[in-house]
Amino acid sequence: MKFVYSSLPYRVIFETGAIDRVADEAARIGKRALVLSTPEQRDAAEDIVRRLGALAVGIFSQAAMHVPVATAAAATALARALSADFSVAIGGGSTIGLAKALSLQAGLPSLVIPTTYAGSEVTPLWGMTENGVKKTGRDLIVLPRAVLYDPMLTLSLPAGLSISSGMNAIAHCMEGLYAVDGNPIVSLMAEEGIRTLAESLPEIGRSPNSLEARSAALYGCWLGGTVLGAASIALHHKLCHSLGGAFDMPHAETHTAVLPHAVAFNASATQDAMERAGRALKVKPANVPNALYDLAASLGAEMALKNLGMPEGGIDRVVVLALQNSYPNPRPITAGGIRSLLQRAYEGLPPQAQPI
Ligand code: NAD
Repeated sequence: MKFVYSSLPYRVIFETGAIDRVADEAARIGKRALVLSTPEQRDAAEDIVRRLGALAVGIFSQAAMHVPVATAAAATALARALSADFSVAIGGGSTIGLAKALSLQAGLPSLVIPTTYAGSEVTPLWGMTENGVKKTGRDLIVLPRAVLYDPMLTLSLPAGLSISSGMNAIAHCMEGLYAVDGNPIVSLMAEEGIRTLAESLPEIGRSPNSLEARSAALYGCWLGGTVLGAASIALHHKLCHSLGGAFDMPHAETHTAVLPHAVAFNASATQDAMERAGRALKVKPANVPNALYDLAASLGAEMALKNLGMPEGGIDRVVVLALQNSYPNPRPITAGGIRSLLQRAYEGLPPQAQPI
């Protein structure tokens, strides 16, 4: 056995009702908090301000998908004007992404309170979008100092977004299983993450108010995020970043539609990963791509990229983007292979194995 593993320095508080600890946790980080949210979650940000009392100096509630550079610049200007010395982000990956932009641009540490299953809260990865291109990077400065996981806050996440966000977390686990720098600990977490999410998402579909299922899914989300933060991403994430940046497509939904196809593309080169994923999904290794498709489709997820905002004729643009920068992937990436998997994902067809 031979591997390298770096654990990341962040603190996790996982508890139903963890939100009650926000002021105590915030006081460990700074004295002047700028609270961040999307416009849709402004009420949640106002609740945080009430809970923080004198620790809160303002709200910026314009967080948006894929962190547009203009939004990051506006938040940074407000943080400077208010002399904020840290941020508190409540929301999904978009709001947490904005907290990361503030860390990168103004050096502000963050306390984050995730309300989706995207997993960004425990990764040193950042992303920002300008002119239809998403720039991403890895920098420890953006890693949140502390994370409050409170399953109560996910009860309001609509069932549809819960399913696609959960599939996004499964995508982190899948790519961790075959990452070039994967290791036994990452594989353990990835397998457990897939198992936990594959069990809890159908339960959330049936009973969106089940705190037990919400808690299990949020735990799976933490595992997925941890895997994403510890191992390199491959074809699947690159395709989703390209689609998101180029066509402003919804993040979690795009991951959901692409995942079975990207896994099918890589399956023949990732025997061990398919065995582990098969165990977690309770199917034979060869059936993993279809099991991922069936899991999402049976819960009502949209599986056709054409219905998620991908324009007709967009396939060629994504093929070019996906081939532009080299990155590790279990099998060589070819224009023909990517075009064929994107075509099926565009139409919403089940995945098809691509022999090497
Ligand atoms: P999101 O943050 O864009 O949220 C989607 C919508 O759901 C928003 O309107 C939000 O306000 C709302 N919402 C969130 N939680 C809610 C709740 N509990 N109840 C009601 N509404 C709620 O979606 P996302 O999928 O979490 O994040 C996507 C973004 O995160 C993308 O830009 C993606 O690139 C990024 N991301 C980054 C990383 C990373 O490691 N850097 C990881 C995953 C995702």
